[in-house]
Amino acid sequence: MALDPTCIFCKIIQGDIPADIVYRDESVVAFNDLNPQAPTHVLVIPTIHTPNASELAKISPTILAAIFSAASSIAGDRGLDGYRTVFNTGESAGQSVFHAHLHLLGGRGLAWPPG
Ligand code: 5GP
Ligand code: ZN
Repeated sequence: MALDPTCIFCKIIQGDIPADIVYRDESVVAFNDLNPQAPTHVLVIPTIHTPNASELAKISPTILAAIFSAASSIAGDRGLDGYRTVFNTGESAGQSVFHAHLHLLGGRGLAWPPG
């Protein structure tokens, strides 16, 4: 499916709801998380609607790679010496928006293991 009119992140892609977009190309959009958990907390999403990273890997490994590439370049631009990239998959793992999105977190110490 290209875009889902009921999906909040598809609405951000289309400009129907505002977001602080920090990077965009034909396959990827990145924007600041509304409820940041670190000084850098960017969400990197595919410009096609798909519910999670597992499905995205099946549909387009190329776009999955583009998401990591965008995250890496955003982290590099910000001079982050360390950062974390996370896909939550499924409600039990904390996923609340069912359009695949990579969390890019950095700018503070990050404990391990995560909660
Ligand atoms: P999840 O819990 O699905 O892994 O992550 C969803 C993320 O999307 C959360 O960190 C949440 O703060 C963020 N989020 C939810 N709605 C919006 C929104 O409308 N705009 C932005 N910028 N972030 C959102
Ligand atoms: Zn969507």
